[in-house]
This record gives sequence, C-alpha cells and structure tokens, in this order.
Amino acid sequence: MLKILNVLKITIKNFFRETFTIMYPDKKKEIPQRYRGPLFALPLDEDGELKCIACRLCEQICPSEIITVVPAKEKSKKGKTYPEKFTLELHACLACELCVQVCPTDAIVMLKIPGWAALSHEEMFLTLPKMVEYGKKYESSISTGSALRNMQTPPRREKISVKKEE
Ligand code: SF4
Ligand code: SF4
Repeated sequence: MLKILNVLKITIKNFFRETFTIMYPDKKKEIPQRYRGPLFALPLDEDGELKCIACRLCEQICPSEIITVVPAKEKSKKGKTYPEKFTLELHACLACELCVQVCPTDAIVMLKIPGWAALSHEEMFLTLPKMVEYGKKYESSISTGSALRNMQTPPRREKISVKKEE
C-alpha cells in the first residue's frame, strides 16, 4: 500500500512539473548563432560568379573523401579558374567543417537549416547547381574560411620597445 502511495505521489508531482519538451514543428527552438546544419552551399560573388577557384584544397582535406572538384579548362570572365564539376556526397559527411575552414576564397559554406532531411539517396548527392541554388535559398552559417581562421589565430604579442642606453 505504501509503495502504491509513493508511486502516486511521484506521478502527481511529475504531472505539475514544468515540461522540457517542445511541440516541434509548431514550436521551434532558437538556433545558436554558430549552428551549422547538414547542407552545403557554393555562394556567388557580387558579379554572380562562383567564389570557388577550383583549388581542390577542400577535396584534399576532407577526411571522408567525399568531395570531388573538376576544374574547368577555360577561365571565367574575370580570368579566374572555376570548377566545371563539384560534388559532395552528404551520406558520409562528418560535419567537421574542415572543407569550409581550408577554403581560401570563402567559397563553400554550411547552412543554417536544422529541419532539413533527405528523402532519397539522390538528395544526399550534392552537385554544383544544387549547391549554388541552396546558397541563394537558405541562410548560411556564420562560419566561412576567413572567419574560422581569424577565430583560431592566436593574438599577436605586442612589441616591446627597448630604449637604448645613452
Ligand atoms: S564537413 Fe568534413 S567530412 Fe563533411 S565534406 Fe566537409 S571536410 Fe568532408
Ligand atoms: S570550395 Fe574553396 S577550397 Fe574547395 S575548390 Fe573551391 S576554392 Fe578551393
């Protein structure tokens, strides 16, 4: 009998307790400022050209080896190299962000879309046109290659000036 009363006491106590779960998707949690989601974009510059110069650094650093960049043979209108093909296979992505961090031109970014889910294998295979489109459609994470490198650069020590003895 005492046990039943104890169980009832716990049940009643929990019934009036503040809830911690939220009714997703009607209510959504605030996304942290530095959140990065599972999708990538290749943003364009102010003239509508790809920022990507097809240097292939992201391809080389990716631990899952899921990025493939094929540089175009000719140059862009601005005389820059650019990728003819760019693919990223999301199914093996570790979201390590190394590809973003290493990019010298801030040409690849991760997106701020927590609710994104793929319904087919095809959706997990990102191509150049898809990533350009995502860049126009979705908000990107605050992290770019330059932003991440700046964050990690240790502060420079102030120079100590030594006065010469007269
Ligand atoms: S986040 Fe990491 S694993 Fe994913 S594509 Fe970039 S480098 Fe590769
Ligand atoms: S996304 Fe950046 S690192 Fe990757 S090939 Fe293009 S310019 Fe190079």
